[in-house]
Amino acid sequence: MTETSSATRERDLAEIRAQVEGERDRLSRELTRLRGDASGGTGKEAPFHEHPTEHAGEMEEHERLLAIRENLEQMNAQCQEALGRLDRGEYGICRSCGKEIDIERLKALPYATRCIPCKEARRD
Ligand SMILES: [Zn+2]
Repeated sequence: MTETSSATRERDLAEIRAQVEGERDRLSRELTRLRGDASGGTGKEAPFHEHPTEHAGEMEEHERLLAIRENLEQMNAQCQEALGRLDRGEYGICRSCGKEIDIERLKALPYATRCIPCKEARRD
């Protein structure tokens, strides 16, 4: 018995959805943890007269956490966006030319919104 290619694609898309949902759950847990850390402070009381360089180090740590959080939020938004497109049946359709994006590309990059030729041509 041979499957039609669209049935295969459906199954691949279901796998990708499970993958993206797992990623989204991981990201939200991570974000919840980071937000908790941020609101709870560093957890240690810094002495008032601290060496300036140590203070700078703490600022950098804060900046670093903020950058991580921003990155996670961006990835989380990409996940939500991909899931939304899956729900609407728009997932895997190239935003530029309207053709189906190669399934191998989607497996490698679930958030891709353009097919390879369009991406390479940088068409919008
Ligand atoms: Zn395209």
